[in-house]
Amino acid sequence: MTDLLAPTATDERARAAARRDRLRVFAIDQALDAILVSSLINLRYLTGFTGSNGSLLIRPDGADVLATDGRYTTQAGAQAPGLELLINRACAPALAARAADTGARRLGYESHVVTVDGLAALHAAIAVHRSDGELRSVGMAVEGLRVIKDAAEIGALRAACSIADQALAALIGMGGIRPERTERDVSRELDHQMLTLGAESVSFDSIVAAGANSAIPHHRPSDAVLAVGDFVKLDFGATCAGYHSDMTRTFVLGPPADWQREIYQLVSTAQRLGREALVVGTSVVDVDAAARAPIVEAGLGAAFSHGLGHGVGLEIHEAPALSALGIGSLAADMAVTVEPGVYLAGRGGVRIEDTLVVGTDGPDLLTMTSKELVAL
Ligand code: ZN
Ligand code: ZN
Repeated sequence: MTDLLAPTATDERARAAARRDRLRVFAIDQALDAILVSSLINLRYLTGFTGSNGSLLIRPDGADVLATDGRYTTQAGAQAPGLELLINRACAPALAARAADTGARRLGYESHVVTVDGLAALHAAIAVHRSDGELRSVGMAVEGLRVIKDAAEIGALRAACSIADQALAALIGMGGIRPERTERDVSRELDHQMLTLGAESVSFDSIVAAGANSAIPHHRPSDAVLAVGDFVKLDFGATCAGYHSDMTRTFVLGPPADWQREIYQLVSTAQRLGREALVVGTSVVDVDAAARAPIVEAGLGAAFSHGLGHGVGLEIHEAPALSALGIGSLAADMAVTVEPGVYLAGRGGVRIEDTLVVGTDGPDLLTMTSKELVAL
């Protein structure tokens, strides 16, 4: 069956080529003779290649080279057919040597990815060919490009979020979140639902946290047994075409107690304010502050112990960080999460998280599951 809306391989190759061109412009602006890309996620973004070993050389003249090892010759040829392929297990030094040997003096590299040993290997590879070679960090230049999503990326994020929504609905529909089950039982079933619904994989180890464990922001599912009166917090996501979804919902088993209603309402208000603050041009610090304000006013500022949200894409956590320590402002087509929480140690906690895309007409909500307080 052909889906006329699905991106074709040709579209994907054209998008990757356009991304390499944007990095090429950066190289020229920075007076670099070439850029060596070592992050495998960035490599995927720039070429479509998904192997576990590889590097990419971007050159101002467009003569880019993808290096990988012999295990991936066929795959690299299929996923990145327009690129020259260099088969060499030591991908990055081989490309650095190639660059130095073909006229590049200033080589940009990803200093947040290359190890100290890896950097020594790059210097050694360059020194064989020229004594005046320089390595200069390009910082997170490719991550900077990845912050703005194109239509196909947003489509993949939407599909991933839809699978997560459907999986949670299916889990609840079959009575999967109920007393006597363990956190691990629930997380296994949730993961199974996501995979059955077409997720490539789960985005991260699903969090299922019941009772007092719900006050632990990143609790790992344990053999703890769900009981009436518990908050049950689920934080999970599906992966589609490499893109992640991220959603948290918190339920109550049985009728909610007053304190549970109060903190749920507080987090719900904070989450709404956070979503409403997703306006193009707003600083990420202000978005965090908008959601945090009611929690601080309620005297529970210390119980919201993490940032408001993060970018989401080929990685589950990527730029921009929506937090007091974040940098920059929102722009259209950034995909971010909004996930305030209040955690009362020993009692329980609530987090409500959506994945959204920032837009000029307001944010586009990708995770559609209801955020009303639901008693199961
Ligand atoms: Zn999450
Ligand atoms: Zn998140």
